Amino acid sequence: MEFETVIGLEVHVQLNTKTKMFCSCATSFGDKPNRHTCPTCLALPGALPSPNREAFVKAGKFGRAINATVHKKSIFDRKNYFYPDLPKAYQISQLAHPIVEGGYLMIDYEDGSQKKIGLTRAHLEEDAGKNIHAGSASNVDLNRAGTPLLEIVSEPDMRSSSEAVSYLKKLHSIVRYLGISDANMQEGSFRCDANVSIRPKGDPNLYPRVEIKNLNSFKFIQKAIEYEVSRQREAWEEGDYDKKVWQETRLYDSDRNETRSMRGKEESADYRYFPDPDLLPVVLDETILKEIDVLPELPDQKRARYIDELGLSPYDAAVITADLDLVVYFEAVLKHDISPKNAVSWLTTELLGRCKKAQIEIAECAIVPETLAKLIARIEDGTISAKAGKEVLDFLFANSSGVDEAIEKLGLRQVSDDAAIERLIEAVLNANEESLTRYKNGDTKLFGFFVGQAMKASGGTANPAKVNEFLKKRIG
Ligand code: ADP
Ligand code: MG
Ligand code: ZN
Repeated sequence: MEFETVIGLEVHVQLNTKTKMFCSCATSFGDKPNRHTCPTCLALPGALPSPNREAFVKAGKFGRAINATVHKKSIFDRKNYFYPDLPKAYQISQLAHPIVEGGYLMIDYEDGSQKKIGLTRAHLEEDAGKNIHAGSASNVDLNRAGTPLLEIVSEPDMRSSSEAVSYLKKLHSIVRYLGISDANMQEGSFRCDANVSIRPKGDPNLYPRVEIKNLNSFKFIQKAIEYEVSRQREAWEEGDYDKKVWQETRLYDSDRNETRSMRGKEESADYRYFPDPDLLPVVLDETILKEIDVLPELPDQKRARYIDELGLSPYDAAVITADLDLVVYFEAVLKHDISPKNAVSWLTTELLGRCKKAQIEIAECAIVPETLAKLIARIEDGTISAKAGKEVLDFLFANSSGVDEAIEKLGLRQVSDDAAIERLIEAVLNANEESLTRYKNGDTKLFGFFVGQAMKASGGTANPAKVNEFLKKRIG
């Protein structure tokens, strides 16, 4: 039987506000435990929450960016559950009246085409603290308790693990462009739960979904979904579907590449939601609404502009605009009057390739945009060949040096001087008289051989365009 995969994603984005969602403690990461706490986020009796204005501005901007409805009025509810890292024994969240509803974003395929993925809602809530298990003791760090979260829920619109990853990458880039979160997956400021089910192809019904938690990299998300899909498919094929697949929460274990049952999935009734009596409904005023309307250029707009104005291919434009750090780098290179196409290939293929090998991010790369721009300029003005450019880049990657210094040091300055090239060609023809005769008798393939010999004799420094031009003149 043919199956179809159905995926819906929930993403928790930590907003980068200065202070927590309902108190004036600083948001922080990696500080000494329990430094940033107060009666409100410690849940001491009588302490009252007071909503963070900046969190609403940031959530609202997100809503605008994904073409959603941003509600003027939203209401906070209590979601009751007990965990040691949640001292109130309830989380303040928004159930029936979230700030953001509806909307969509476009995911990119390799061939440059796009698909629309619907969003259900995005609501504001507070993060829990962290349990730290040390030997026989468990400690609780409440620095994170009360940090604003935007929970973004998608429609079950994705049909493969790679669509799920494309969705997350687009969401990640939108959040980064908006500057509303640092969206660092390792540090937990961009966390994803994947809901996965399968169904016979063509069946419009939704089947029980399994929610997978603990996914902190794009790679693991892809693998966890693939594992889960094959587990469900096997169960179906073996006639065990009803016994093995039901609505539950599973954990992904990246060491063993498998998902394991954690608990039965709770329904919203289990949480006994009710409107938080300590918080009035929040109504956004005109000033906030105006602030929300101010958006930067977003990934898809930038992508379209790169295609229209810079002449990039849809694929290249998508690769660069997917990552804000790459965008910043690319735009800094372009300031130096470089052809955009050269900038793309030297940045994405050459420099990123080397970064990947060295396992560093572009933002950590010692080769700054000005240096890469200079290198490309030296290729464009014919000082060195493209091939020599790669050697220079290797050198710059390993040594701190200027571009011109590196070219001199490696002896790669290209010979473009006409007389020198003519001499080079004469020498090659003299050394290969027999081939020259064959060439004259019609073996035209030998032209390439002569070019190769001339390049070799020059140690790769002859300007290949000139060698071709002069050789053609000389032997026709
Ligand atoms: P909960 O908090 O209970 O997990 P949410 O409404 O926040 O509920 O999220 C449910 C998520 O599961 C959404 O992203 C939705 O698209 C997705 N989903 C719902 N049904 C299915 C299904 N049958 N298969 C895959 N995903 C589903
Ligand atoms: Mg869920
Ligand atoms: Zn506090």
